[in-house]
This record gives sequence, C-alpha cells and structure tokens, in this order.
Amino acid sequence: MKHIAERLRTAGGMPRPSFAWACLQDTRAHAHANSGVGMPPSETRSRTLFRAGLCLGLAALVTAAAGNTWGLQAPPASAPASAPAAPATKAAPPPPAPAPVAAPAPAAAKPAATEAADAAPAPVHLTPQPRMCAVSIPKLMLVLVFAAIVFYVCNWTFLDTRFVSTNRTKWGLVVLGGGLAGLTAAVLVPVIYAGLPLGVIFFGGAAVAYAVHRNTLVTPPLQVLTGAHLVRLRRRIFGRTAEERAAADRASGAGRPIIFMGLDDLPIRVETTSPDEQMAMNEVERVLHDAIMRRASTVGYLAKPTKGEVKFRISGETCSGGDVDRPAADHFTDLVKRMANLDPAETRKPQEGRVRAIVATQPFELRIKTAGTVKGEQIAIRIIDVVSSQLRLERIGLSEGAFAALNDALAVHPGLVILSGTQDSGLTTTIHSCLRHFDRYVSNVVVFEPHTDIEVENVQHILINQEDGPVATAEVRSRMRMEPDVVAFDSLALPEIAGLLAEASKEHTVVVGIRAADAVQAIARLAALLGSSQALADRLQAVTNQRLVRLLCPDCKEAYRPNPDFLRKANLGAAKVDILYRPPTRTPGGEGASAVCPRCNNERYAGRTGLFEVMPIDAVAREMIGRGASAADVRAYIRKGGMRNLQEEGLQMVIEGRTSIEEVLRAIKQAT
Ligand SMILES: [Zn+2]
Repeated sequence: MKHIAERLRTAGGMPRPSFAWACLQDTRAHAHANSGVGMPPSETRSRTLFRAGLCLGLAALVTAAAGNTWGLQAPPASAPASAPAAPATKAAPPPPAPAPVAAPAPAAAKPAATEAADAAPAPVHLTPQPRMCAVSIPKLMLVLVFAAIVFYVCNWTFLDTRFVSTNRTKWGLVVLGGGLAGLTAAVLVPVIYAGLPLGVIFFGGAAVAYAVHRNTLVTPPLQVLTGAHLVRLRRRIFGRTAEERAAADRASGAGRPIIFMGLDDLPIRVETTSPDEQMAMNEVERVLHDAIMRRASTVGYLAKPTKGEVKFRISGETCSGGDVDRPAADHFTDLVKRMANLDPAETRKPQEGRVRAIVATQPFELRIKTAGTVKGEQIAIRIIDVVSSQLRLERIGLSEGAFAALNDALAVHPGLVILSGTQDSGLTTTIHSCLRHFDRYVSNVVVFEPHTDIEVENVQHILINQEDGPVATAEVRSRMRMEPDVVAFDSLALPEIAGLLAEASKEHTVVVGIRAADAVQAIARLAALLGSSQALADRLQAVTNQRLVRLLCPDCKEAYRPNPDFLRKANLGAAKVDILYRPPTRTPGGEGASAVCPRCNNERYAGRTGLFEVMPIDAVAREMIGRGASAADVRAYIRKGGMRNLQEEGLQMVIEGRTSIEEVLRAIKQAT
C-alpha cells in the first residue's frame, strides 16, 4: 500500500500534459469503438444483444434477490405480536419451512402461537410478503450503484477487447461472471455490509485480472489501473488541486496550442533571453502545430542566409509550410536543438534527438535530426502519431475478407507469408501490425529492418543493412540459431538472406516484406531471389500487396452522380451506385462561409489508410507456383476463389464514400 501511495503521490506531481494523456487514454482510445463507426453489422448486433442481456440479468437479479433477502432479514416493527416467531423465521428462510417449526414450539411460545392462530392461519402469517416493505432503501441504493458499476465495466471490457484485439468471449465471460457472482453475493448474504465487500472482491478480482492481461498488450500511456492512470482518473473526476494547476500553468504555459514534453513526460520549457529568441520560439510552435494539424509526416527546415525555409510532407507529397523570416530564423535551429537536448554549437555533424508534443490532447512523438549541408544547416522532424502508430491488424484498412485471409495465413505454424507493396505504401506498419498479432509474451519474435522508427513491445528489432552483404547474412544466420518462433524481415533484397528465411519457414513462422507492384509480382521476385519457386511454394500461406490511399475529408467532400459508362466499365451496375464522392470543386462551406475547411485546412483529404489485396495460397496454388506456372495462371486460379484485387478493393472504398476514384487510380499506378 505504501508503495502504491508513493506512486500516486509522485505521479500526482505531474503537471498538465499528463491530463492530456489521460484524455487520450479515456476518450480517444475508445472513440472509434464507442462510435460504432466502421463496425460490421454483426458487431453492432452482438453489442446491442450483450447490453440488453446484461441489463435484464442485472435488473432481475437485483429485484428478485433484494425483495427476498432483505424482506426476511429486517423484522418489521408493525408485528410485535409475532416477536417470538422471528428467530424461527431467521433460522429457516424459505417460506414453507417455518410452519412445521412453529407447530412443535416450546411451551413458552405457545400463547403467542395460539394468538396468532386465532388472528390468521400460521402459513399466511409467515409468508415474506408483508415484509417486502421492509427493504432498506439505502441498502438497495448501494446494490444498484454496484450493479451500475458492474454494467459499466462489463460494457467497457466488451469494447476494450476489440481495441486491444484479445479474446472477447473469454474475457467478456470472466468479467461478466465475476460481476454476477459479486452481485449475487451482495444481495444474498443476509448482512449487506458483509455481502457487498464480498461482492466487490469477486468482481474486482475478475476486473483486475482483465486489466493486468490487457495492460500487457498496450504501451504505458494506454494502460489502466496503474498509478498514473488512477491519478488521471482522480483529476478527471475531482479536477486538479490548486497547487497542481499553478505548477502546470507555470511549466507548460497555459493556453498554448502545442506543449512540448521530454521522454520522461515532463514539460519542456526553453528559456528565451531576448525578444528575437521569443519570436523564434513562437515560430517553432507555429510550424510544428501547423504540421501536426495538417497531418504532415515530416517537417523539413533549411536555414538559408536570408530566411528559414519550411517544407511539410503531407500524405506523401511535399508542400510549403510557410517560411520563417529573420531575425527569428537566426534562432530557429538553435531552439529546436536545445529542446531536443542536442548540442547547439555543433552545426556540421549529424545529431539526433526525440521530443514529445501534445496537440489538442493527442500525443505525438517528434524525431529530430540535424545536419550541416552545403546550403546551410538542416533539420528534419518526423512526426509520429503515438496512437495510430500502435495500429493492430484490424485497423490498418483490410476489408473483412482480406483480414480473415491474412489472419488464417498468420496462424499457420510453421509457414511463410509475403507482404509486399511499393515505396511509401506503409509496408513497415503492416509488418509491425502482423507482429502485434502474435502473442509476443509467449513467443520469441524477431524483426530485421533497415531502420527502427517505432518499436513493437516485446519484439526484438534488429537493424540490418543489406548493403553490407556478408555481414548482414552472418547476422541473420546467427540470430536464426537462437530459434525464434516468429521471424519478420522488412524489405528483403539479398538472395543469401532469402535462402535463410526459406529454410527458417520449415520450422518457424516467417513474414517477409518485399517491394512489388502486386501480389503475383511479389511471388516472382522472391522466387528469383531464391533461384527456385519450389523452395518458396512449400510453406507459402498468403501474399499481400498494398498501397496507401488518402481519405476524403468528411466535412468538405462533394457528392456527385457518376457517369453510367464509367460504372459499366468498372463493373458497377448503375442501379447499385447512385452517388460517389470526390474532393470539393467549390470553396468549402459555400458563399459567405469560411473559406477554410476547419478539419482538413483545405487539403481536401484527411488521413490515410491502407488499400490491400490478399491472396490466400491453397494446396493447388502451391503446386502451381512450385512447378513454375505463369503469373497470369496463378492469379486467375486464385481470383476464381473470390479474391478481390487492388482495383476492386479500392472501388469498394470509393463506393463507401471514403476516398475518390482519382485517389485510388493514383495509388494503384505507383511503381515500385
Ligand atoms: Zn475538409
């Protein structure tokens, strides 16, 4: 207890940014699940059924048990004549039982029994009905509050299992079972003040077991019932103490649109010594806030003699982020370096640092690199959305059928799965999502990659430079001797390593990432690296190919009636699709309204998602690949089984109004 109290106290000193993390934890993490957006109909149905069943069960249990138990337990003040009968009633609660007990009552009880017999028949006298009015309202309230908490936690667990991708049935039953056992104890134990704590122990035990399990699946900011989480909850419910508010305001600057934090989650406040420096600090905040709001993935800053040039990379395209004029430009790089704990005096050698930022209660990580170039000093800042970088396989954009096919393929052990895509198609994110799909706390999971931007918890990330041919091969070979259960390799290019991975796929699950424009090309490329298609066909379970597509801004997308000719060409009957969407061709909001869309800042698109084709490989396809059948034949065979290709998956997204035809065509045309 002392330890927990100490943690609470320490975490309590954490100022404002923690609140943002709390908001993230408690709202954003479940925003998607709660909204029901994107949920398949079966999901919505099972959620409604679950809630209705839970409500009915709890209501029935509370009503029945409260009436029965407490009606018998509290002797009514209006029945003084039957006082001697009360102990007999208490000893044998079921209504019919007291009758035979009352009949052979000792002599002392006899006059009372006779009196009672005169007034009314004994069984009527002993029925619990008249005692129903004796139900204690405060006790009933206590049980109702407990039932409400059980309902809330069971409902939360139901949604949360989806968010953390764990076994919903198992954990739903564990928590629900604990809740019902707890409620039963609370209402059936005659003394409520003993029954309720017992109930809390039953239910609390089940809930804590789930919390401990789900905490192993998420990173610390998303964990629950930890010291930091309890502090956040306390702040949400009771607000901050005056001391905390003052400390937070002092440290982070109240009202600032962006808050910078160190990796220890404490706010960073770079002290400025002159008005020029303060102006430069304002520019740093403006540029980074702007970049995050516009969903840029990278910010580039080049310090030129006359000004500072800012470039944003948004959805794979480069655009201007507004220049920084002198004199602020003179201090810009200096301030960024000081913020990231880098050496401001070092202007030529490359330096790297990391900072966290909170914008609109969402956490971001900023990876800062600086280096001197012939043109001037340069900064590159990669912006990583902490929440979406923890994407699980269900959330990367796979359609229901594609997800099921990939899920089945990953479950085969030993087996080989090929993930392919063009440059900047989000292949690394998919590989990481696949790794999150394995039980990393039981299995030994290893990933080889050219650079590690995001780490997956409990996975060994091994940096590998394939340009160092023999060195890289030796590294992979030595790691394979350690018998990993799951091996993933990002951007495979060396024949020797391909051979090692094919060998490993005979005993382990192997996930290979490779550059290719479509799934069949990915098979051909891996076969070329191996020098034989037989070696790869043996264990191949599935091949995927992917692109990143931008999503239309939901606030300013424009509906239009598609040309019937086009629909016919795209194999979409005109009857099926009346309306499609495209980026706005007019000013958002129309005449007189604000000319800037508040959601997308007139970028017209907001956010990106993966577009996938997943090719499941069965025994026949394996045999075809093994004997070197043509790509067209393999594709034709698998298409017969119902596989949808990139175009079809893309058109489905267009029909759903999530993206535009132009965007899908642009993405598909990308070369490797
Ligand atoms: Zn918009």
